[in-house]
Amino acid sequence: MEIRKVGVVGAGQMGNGIAHVFALAGFDVMMTDISQEALDKAVALIDRNLERQVSREKLTAADKAAAMARITATTTLTDLGPSDLIIESATERETIKTAIFEDLVPHLAPHTILTSNTSSISITRLASRTDRPQKFMGFHFMNPVPVMQLVELIRGIATDEPTFKACLAVVEKLGKTAATSEDFPAFIVNRILMPMINEAVYALYEGVGNVRSIDTSLKLGANHPMGPLELADFIGLDTCLAIMNVLHDGLADTKYRPCPLLTKYVEAGWLGRKTQRGFYDYRGDEPVPTR
Ligand code: NAD
Repeated sequence: MEIRKVGVVGAGQMGNGIAHVFALAGFDVMMTDISQEALDKAVALIDRNLERQVSREKLTAADKAAAMARITATTTLTDLGPSDLIIESATERETIKTAIFEDLVPHLAPHTILTSNTSSISITRLASRTDRPQKFMGFHFMNPVPVMQLVELIRGIATDEPTFKACLAVVEKLGKTAATSEDFPAFIVNRILMPMINEAVYALYEGVGNVRSIDTSLKLGANHPMGPLELADFIGLDTCLAIMNVLHDGLADTKYRPCPLLTKYVEAGWLGRKTQRGFYDYRGDEPVPTR
């Protein structure tokens, strides 16, 4: 089955990037969010990011205009019903995602493939709350979506082969590379990345180093392009904490316990770049460490 119409649920930092790459690859994209403001911001951001590609001569003005014309936005979730493929990319909370799928299901076309961009939540469990676990998959993009090459494809226990092949073909059409992961907590990338970030927060919490020394150590000592705390701010500290909780609960091993300092930042609403404050304060010209 050819996928042409794509629905994106959640127009946050991931949702706008997902809409961007699909529109650029020629798919019709409908974005939805509970917040009209989030939708307006997402469309404006896609426009700005595509304009930057035009000014760098990586894209023609005509291709940009065509991509923008393929994007529509709605606050009515059920408008996504006729999509061929839906990518849910709302806040990383299972109750939110489950409610979205339950609201969507009665409005879906029989052939619609449902996917989630979740960083960690069980695909099998999310799928079991829908009418089509065989047509349900994890479609996990990396941040920032237009830049990062990888898409993790996660099969739930019931996912059938045609659904997997259809999603793989979409990844190829986007010009990205798929890696497949079995459905276990946090899949592959975050199973490995998030405990490292959490350990960096423990190093900060225990006073082994400050924000600057921890990030400099990993950048210059391990050749990472970003330090772990800088990266945590980029991902969103609420998302990092949610992933650690999924690892901790799902694997029942104390080695995954979230650092109390990470919890404290989230409780303060210091969620990283998206709220202008996290391990760094982004309100001035240069990011300033908060510890
Ligand atoms: P975000 O906080 O930037 O955006 C979430 C958006 O979802 C918000 O605009 C919010 O209004 C919207 N939303 C909340 N409830 C909704 C509902 N019921 N219906 C429609 N929209 C709703 O979060 P994000 O970083 O874009 O993360 C979204 C998803 O992508 C999460 O599952 C996250 O785990 C995953 N993800 C995040 C990253 C990352 O680096 N941030 C990377 C890969 C995957």
